[in-house]
Amino acid sequence: MTTVGILGGGQLARMMALAGAPLGLRFLVLDATPDACAGQFAPMLEADYRDQAGLAEFAGRVDVATFDFENVPAESARWLAERVPVFPNPRALAVAQDRLAEKTLFRELGIPVPEFATIDSREQLDAALASVGTPCILKTRRLGYDGKGQFRIKSPADADAAWQALGPQAASVGLILEGFVAFQRELSVVAVRGRDGELQAWPLTENWHDHGILSASLAPAQTDAALQAQALDAARRVAEALDYVGVFALELFLKDGVLVANEMAPRVHNSGHWTIEGAETSQFQNHLRAVLGLPLGSTRALGHSVMLNWIGAMPAAAPVLAEACGHWHDYGKSPREGRKVGHATLRADSASELAGALERVGKALGRESQVAPVIARLRD
Ligand code: ATP
Ligand code: MG
Ligand code: MG
Repeated sequence: MTTVGILGGGQLARMMALAGAPLGLRFLVLDATPDACAGQFAPMLEADYRDQAGLAEFAGRVDVATFDFENVPAESARWLAERVPVFPNPRALAVAQDRLAEKTLFRELGIPVPEFATIDSREQLDAALASVGTPCILKTRRLGYDGKGQFRIKSPADADAAWQALGPQAASVGLILEGFVAFQRELSVVAVRGRDGELQAWPLTENWHDHGILSASLAPAQTDAALQAQALDAARRVAEALDYVGVFALELFLKDGVLVANEMAPRVHNSGHWTIEGAETSQFQNHLRAVLGLPLGSTRALGHSVMLNWIGAMPAAAPVLAEACGHWHDYGKSPREGRKVGHATLRADSASELAGALERVGKALGRESQVAPVIARLRD
């Protein structure tokens, strides 16, 4: 029996383990947190990613390794890759960990990106504010997620506050200044590349964020075939340049018909959770198939899906369960402000049916503002 090792034991590892069960797979999850939520479904090895003894034991017990967490130190990934197949490969992981490296790669590949400049000092920030222009966003190059490690700069007068907030981190994680993209929509493409180079992508997904955290996704996004082709082309270039194996996501801004790349996630992605019920093959199962060199499943969407993230605490399940098209995912995590603790997916054959269900659920849960932009799009 094949054992897949997963570095990181969050909800992504948990959903991977659930998707791998029908394939007859076993899992081993490496995580330093004793109550990591994947541990409820997969055996866990309690160790830090940097701990060589832990990594050595992990390597000895798995046939192949992958990630639930993109910030595993690249050195740990490289060390592991010398002992066991690791997908995606450590170089792909390293590029995706660093906003400067990933934006530089996108630009080299002809993929549109916002203006950007690397920032090592206060003087450089002033110079970059002039070249990049305002509004813009100062971000940490590494270790940011859910909008953390970012400071929005409206005018050069905000430079002092931005430097006060993030300057102390310049030496440890690096900083990048990015032009603010006044986008019409936020989209993402989730794609999978097999060990043989076959590439497939799920339909484009439209995403809404709340305070930098994904709040809702609609798939397929209501866009035309030309945009889908643009996204697929960008995904293919990135995947081939990195010799990528597995699932990844490109987060995109739609501005005046052009897809501008924001960042990539070298793993299964929150904007792909709808694929569990809303696609022929889920991102989790296809990731495992890719990593194991198995044939990839179809990424075709089954009707229309909306995914709602539950942030901080789980709401009542009943209104979603009462819908014929409702699917519930409770990650079994304890509540904490800003923490992703679960999600729901509503899947229907028609956009109007989906909008109706979404409206009922939003009202019953007092989440009208979370569902409103999605309903508006479905009724466009
Ligand atoms: P994630 O949880 O997706 O990894 P993150 O912390 O890496 O988030 P980003 O994706 O860079 O952060 O930014 C979070 C959100 O902030 C984006 O989804 C987008 O809504 C907004 N944002 C980020 N960069 C820009 C930009 N250059 N122009 C406009 N909006 C932006
Ligand atoms: Mg990110
Ligand atoms: Mg992001």
